Amino acid sequence: MLTSQLISPNSIAVVGASENRSKPGGKVLQNLLDAKYQGTVYAVNKKPLNIEGTVYVSQISEIPFVDLAIIAIPAHQCIDAVKQLIEKGARAFIIFSAGFSEAGAEGKSLEKKLVEIINNANATMIGPNCIGIINENYKGVFTTPVPEYDSSGCELISSSGATAVFIMESALLTGLKFSNIYSIGNASQTGVEDILEYMDTHYIPGKSPSVKLLYLEEIKNPFKFIKHVTSLRKKGCRIAAIKSGYSEAGSRAASSHTGALATSDTVIRALFSKCGIVYCSSRDELIAVASVFQTKELKGKNIAIITHAGGSAVMLTDALTSNGMNVPDIPAAFTKELLSKLNAGSSVANPIDFLATGTAEQLGVIIDFCENYDAIDGMVVVFGSPGLFNVKDVYEILDKKISTCSKPVFPVLPSLINAEKEIKLFLSKGRVNFPDEVNLGKALAHVFNSELILFEKVMLPEMDFAAIRSIINSSYDGFLNPDVCRELLEAARISLAKQKIITDIRQLTKTEQLSYPLVMKVIGPVHKTEVGGVILNIINEQQAVEAFTQLMRISGAKSVLVQEMIQGEELYCGAVKQGDFGHVVLCGLGGIFLELLNDTSSALAPMSRQEVITMVESLKGYKLIEGYRNRNGLNKEMFIDIIMRVGALVHIAPEITELDLNPIIANEMQAVAVDVRIRIEK
Ligand code: ADP
Ligand code: MG
Repeated sequence: MLTSQLISPNSIAVVGASENRSKPGGKVLQNLLDAKYQGTVYAVNKKPLNIEGTVYVSQISEIPFVDLAIIAIPAHQCIDAVKQLIEKGARAFIIFSAGFSEAGAEGKSLEKKLVEIINNANATMIGPNCIGIINENYKGVFTTPVPEYDSSGCELISSSGATAVFIMESALLTGLKFSNIYSIGNASQTGVEDILEYMDTHYIPGKSPSVKLLYLEEIKNPFKFIKHVTSLRKKGCRIAAIKSGYSEAGSRAASSHTGALATSDTVIRALFSKCGIVYCSSRDELIAVASVFQTKELKGKNIAIITHAGGSAVMLTDALTSNGMNVPDIPAAFTKELLSKLNAGSSVANPIDFLATGTAEQLGVIIDFCENYDAIDGMVVVFGSPGLFNVKDVYEILDKKISTCSKPVFPVLPSLINAEKEIKLFLSKGRVNFPDEVNLGKALAHVFNSELILFEKVMLPEMDFAAIRSIINSSYDGFLNPDVCRELLEAARISLAKQKIITDIRQLTKTEQLSYPLVMKVIGPVHKTEVGGVILNIINEQQAVEAFTQLMRISGAKSVLVQEMIQGEELYCGAVKQGDFGHVVLCGLGGIFLELLNDTSSALAPMSRQEVITMVESLKGYKLIEGYRNRNGLNKEMFIDIIMRVGALVHIAPEITELDLNPIIANEMQAVAVDVRIRIEK
């Protein structure tokens, strides 16, 4: 909970204040005063200080009353200070001090005590080990740059103070503006979830900042995170985030394929796509995405590239088209008039290259043409300067057209040295710049694809829910045996190859219509192929007898599974439980696609049909499912159905810790699981 004292304090005490501006306690005072903070500032230090605009006190007891305390003293002195400050009315604390949980066991227990004391007082604590916060009312940070507050600017929440600074530094240079900035440090009391909750519950449409950038090292409460992010997205906010730290926690102790594939990064990607957050993996990417957010919304995939720089246009075309966007040809029939207004040698087929000699006026004509040409949804203008001519008039036209066009126009102004002054002037009009065309291309595609989600209510497919529950309730922890797996899949209506378990070869002949060719597999060992426990393409009874004998000789063999052999390509689907995140469902193509290319996509269960379609279509090997060259396609609908049902099954039976359908064999007619592994834990 963020207290009003944190958001709009009437008074602030800086504990550990200093006249020295290169110390946190000195710098924060300077930032507060420079930004003309309206309330009283107490500068607390045993050593006498003379800082204009502040009230000096030698100790906390001399403060009459205070709302917010900013603390910049050694960790071991913090507890005592906080206790005294609470007595003085303080209900908000920003703790810069390091030396807490990040420093070892002793620091950890100090931090725990601190949180307890602050919680008992119903106060808010930001930090420790942070650079502070910036909002409309005050600039409580000890670093620079200190961006001007702009209510339409980005809100930033960062687990790392240094990273927050680096993000602001690069972002300000590209013209981005900021509103509220929260450096949460160790986040021992106030985490990203709490700040998102505050943003969500205090959101005023048209007034509150709508772009949010997150740099996260930890999501402690995924449930709360999802709730508020989804709500903010529904209110029209746009969110991009970096989640650092690819720990392999998810793949620890995993006995299934899915378990091994579900790294913490997979989970985060699944989480982000569930709630419409644009996943970023670097500061540059985050900034490019934020700049896309600050431009008019792109309504379709078709981009016109307008430039005088051929190389940039080619790189941008590659970046766009390899990420699912289009740079459509503009047929000559439509461009005759346009061409007549450009210099000889210009090309207008898209990319539109109006040459180094192109004029500002011509740029205006081209932009107008694209604005009125229906098959274009947005424009990128790449325009730099080789230092020979002035680009001021070009950037003026660009600025005007960005305002007047209904379609978004993305400026790539790469001449950071040659056109430094002109770019500054352009940015001062409230514009952003994308210095690198490829970063823009990727960001544009990324935003466009991430924001397609509809937040629809997930409808579970029809399944025998009662049977599923009863099977789970009557099973014990561990791997379910093949018969129970089959029953569970039947109840979930997931198709499995026709099969029968036998302990005696005579049972084979008695089986109800299993038709050759058959596959026989040992039951007992978990990984069957590794122990020679899978025999394929058995075409007659004599081979079946031999296979049975061979399989029963394998150490640990209990019985033999006889299955119809399915012809087709291997696909895969699985689910794995990820603590508070719930289940992650993964899908992909089998074989080398899975093993070498790691080509999987993931989503948090349960998934809507649209989510599953996106999962399948975003696979690198999707073309094989669609049909490629002379290869027939696979039954995509049935694959989608299986994935949806896996999501629904683990939702109904959360005791399932791992579920693997590996492989699912698919052809044009069907998609059928041939190997199932399910582990439960109650
Ligand atoms: P495991 O994963 O324990 O080694 P599987 O049951 O997945 O055992 O079998 C190994 C491989 O044999 C599968 O990946 C698939 O290529 C092939 N296979 C298994 N069952 C069938 C089947 N019914 N039809 C066609 N191929 C099969
Ligand atoms: Mg298998």
